Amino acid sequence: MSDPTVASDASGPGPERQARLFALLYSAAEVEERSRRIYEAMLSQSPQIRTGNFTVIGTDDLERLFAGYDREFFRGRLGEMLLEDGAHPIAFRLSRRLVRAAGQTIRQVQRVQRAGRPVLKVDYEITVSATLLYNTFQHVDRTVTVGGLVCGDRLEALQRIFEHELLHLAEFLGWGRSNCRAANFHALSRRIFAHEGAYHDLVTPREEAGVAFGIHVGDAVSFELDGVRHHGRVNRITRRATVLVEDPRGRLYSDGKHYLTFYVPLGLLSKL
Ligand SMILES: [Zn+2]
Repeated sequence: MSDPTVASDASGPGPERQARLFALLYSAAEVEERSRRIYEAMLSQSPQIRTGNFTVIGTDDLERLFAGYDREFFRGRLGEMLLEDGAHPIAFRLSRRLVRAAGQTIRQVQRVQRAGRPVLKVDYEITVSATLLYNTFQHVDRTVTVGGLVCGDRLEALQRIFEHELLHLAEFLGWGRSNCRAANFHALSRRIFAHEGAYHDLVTPREEAGVAFGIHVGDAVSFELDGVRHHGRVNRITRRATVLVEDPRGRLYSDGKHYLTFYVPLGLLSKL
């Protein structure tokens, strides 16, 4: 922001915003009540989400969640700051590729011309992993926690993920940067959402594969491709399994053998 050719205005990240964000403080009981209101509002207003373990979700649901959270927890300050920064509205995405992080908040700064002058244009995008949401509360039956709080269903898990991402957004708006491993983030997350931590144990594709398909990393498997049956070993599981098949045409691995790599949908694998 110290670039003299770029106009900056009085608003933007700084102590004034930081104070407004740190003024937000809710007891655990208030957090519970407010997030329950958002939960009920989602069920009554969303055309897709009709039950806690919904099977369809749209990006309009993320917009709805944003409005609910800004109202219930941020007193409209997120929307105000976004408007001040010319960054309103923010973009929402559902991702099938995001499989380790449950969500992601990105801040992009671009130089644009406005009234003949170069200015910085800030944009935000919040992504939620649809893969983790749908894997969770499906085949794997265990307690799921996000941010140290137990989630009873998929909608609650979505709320906890979204709360984490909104804290990233709040930090970006107030401080210009964000880090969920740092003390500032944890302080905000305790004050606003009574979160106990910044981690999730949602069901990853790897765990889901183990329960739903009985397939684990290291398993010997076979699969058919264009009428040929291949035999190999599972090396990695994301949305598909990475299977290494020994073949002299393949890449040399540290065990001194050559392997070809195949990405196989889990349902097509047979365990040997
Ligand atoms: Zn984070």
